[in-house]
Amino acid sequence: MRFSKAFIPTAKEAPTDALLASHIFLSRAGFISQVASGLYNYLPLGKRVLRKIENIINEEMQRCDAQEVELSFVTPAELWQESGRIEKFGKELLRFRDRKENLFVLGPTHEEMMVNIVRNRLTSYKQLPMNLYQIKTKFRDEARPRFGLMRAREFVMKDGYSFHADEEDLNREFNSMQEAYKRILERLDLDFRIVEADSGAIGGSGSKELMVIADSGEDTIAICSKCEYGANIEAAKRSKSTEIPEAPEADFNKFKTPDIKSIEQLSSFFHVDAYYMVKTVAKRAIYEDGDEIVFFFLRGSDDLQEVKATNAVNALELVDVSEDDLLEAGFIPGFMGPLDILNVRCIFDNELENADSMICGANEVDYHYVGVDMSVLKDVVFTDLVEVKEGDGCPYCDGVLSYTKGIEVGHIFKLGTTYSKALKAEFLNEKGQSEPLVMGTYGMGVSRLIAAVIEQHHDDKGCIWTKETAPYTLNIMVSNIKDEAQLSLGEELYNKFKDSGVEVIIDDRKERFGFKMKDAELIGFPYTIIIGKELLNSNVQLYIRKTDEKIMLEAKNIFEKVIDIL
Ligand code: ATP
Ligand code: MG
Repeated sequence: MRFSKAFIPTAKEAPTDALLASHIFLSRAGFISQVASGLYNYLPLGKRVLRKIENIINEEMQRCDAQEVELSFVTPAELWQESGRIEKFGKELLRFRDRKENLFVLGPTHEEMMVNIVRNRLTSYKQLPMNLYQIKTKFRDEARPRFGLMRAREFVMKDGYSFHADEEDLNREFNSMQEAYKRILERLDLDFRIVEADSGAIGGSGSKELMVIADSGEDTIAICSKCEYGANIEAAKRSKSTEIPEAPEADFNKFKTPDIKSIEQLSSFFHVDAYYMVKTVAKRAIYEDGDEIVFFFLRGSDDLQEVKATNAVNALELVDVSEDDLLEAGFIPGFMGPLDILNVRCIFDNELENADSMICGANEVDYHYVGVDMSVLKDVVFTDLVEVKEGDGCPYCDGVLSYTKGIEVGHIFKLGTTYSKALKAEFLNEKGQSEPLVMGTYGMGVSRLIAAVIEQHHDDKGCIWTKETAPYTLNIMVSNIKDEAQLSLGEELYNKFKDSGVEVIIDDRKERFGFKMKDAELIGFPYTIIIGKELLNSNVQLYIRKTDEKIMLEAKNIFEKVIDIL
């Protein structure tokens, strides 16, 4: 490619809303341009990078015998009604009607569509397993599109779906996909971690996320100091604490606690560790067909993990409840507790099971109970509601958990039979009996990966593309195109590299050297051969973007030298 003919609109200024390096540099260097909130155009350089990542994914999928398909982006709403997801997805689903008033949805993910393809086609165990995938535009009307390609509304996803006769075979495929995803991220030169993830309301028997480690990541993950364990904070577990504070000595009693409402106030009032307080968190749970106030109880020293809590009541989401709403519903904010509470759904954290010597609200203004033995409660639902903290123990070894930030670039999921049951996708097993297909689903954010690569590979001058992602590997910069010697060497090298299969661009623009150099740094080609004044001494320079160094080399060996490096 010739720079003079290329459409690479570089700019000094970044979009005003650009906060992340990837958003700033991909925009400034002319890889992408914004159309509207969460909508982006890929310009020639951006398209090249996108294609490269897609190629890597395709290669790794083909190695696992996954087959590529391409499904319609516009999907009939009936399929979403059949699966019951039309409500669950809420406003993220973009719906519209065609001229015949039929309702459609722009595909945000394609489980329904894929099940629809295989139902009545995969009808015998002999046709299983089957893994079908696509790399395709998705649309989600995100509440807060931001960070450029990181959280767009229209974006490119690789979505794969596998079908099996049983769980065992699903597990095998799940592991094979995990390995394939690992290889993809390794080829992209990304520092990542595979972590346990929240499987959400869909259930299923497990899911994992692929997290690219970056301070700019929107997800918090807990990782172990010793072993491989890592989990999204939404799903992270911890070991039982061994350092238990000394228990207060008190018989069961009601105690006047005037205006003492918070855990901190209670703790200093009684001189008792928050560990022995029952924390009551009231939330309004929103369901498809209504809402209700729910009480979550946990130890005062713990915090509620909202995603765990949302799953515990199978809600679409939890929202805060105001004190006025609580009063109106007959509750007493600041003094609510699990004893004698009526007419409200209560969920208890596992760590309250058999807890003793506890202090909790008495559901009466200015009163708390002390010396409460939780085992007196009957018909109680216990589940894990706790958000793990830094310093908590690893659930698998004696290591310690700490937080780090991650960008979710992939999510692989053992779905089981949820969709095949809902959409009646069945096959005949070896005994001739009808069974629902067992499914796995494997998503990867292809366009988000472009941003993730730059989040990990940039400096204050611009992008630093890695070997397999660079839009062009080599840039041949002719400092002064009016200098015939410089230009003819440039052209000669350009042709030689092109003939050797190197992805090369020649900067033959009528611009000053400084301007061209700034572009080379901003765009981030891995290597630039600078043909400049030093040619008078038969030398050229090789600029290595990653290390930001320039090496003087003899012009006559430059071709062989660079081929060696590449
Ligand atoms: P997130 O938690 O970031 O919203 P998600 O859990 O909704 O992601 P999935 O439904 O698992 O995402 O989709 C599979 C992959 O698609 C994600 O791992 C992510 O890499 C990518 N992805 C999801 N939403 C977006 C988006 N708005 N913009 C770009 N990529 C996205
Ligand atoms: Mg996810």
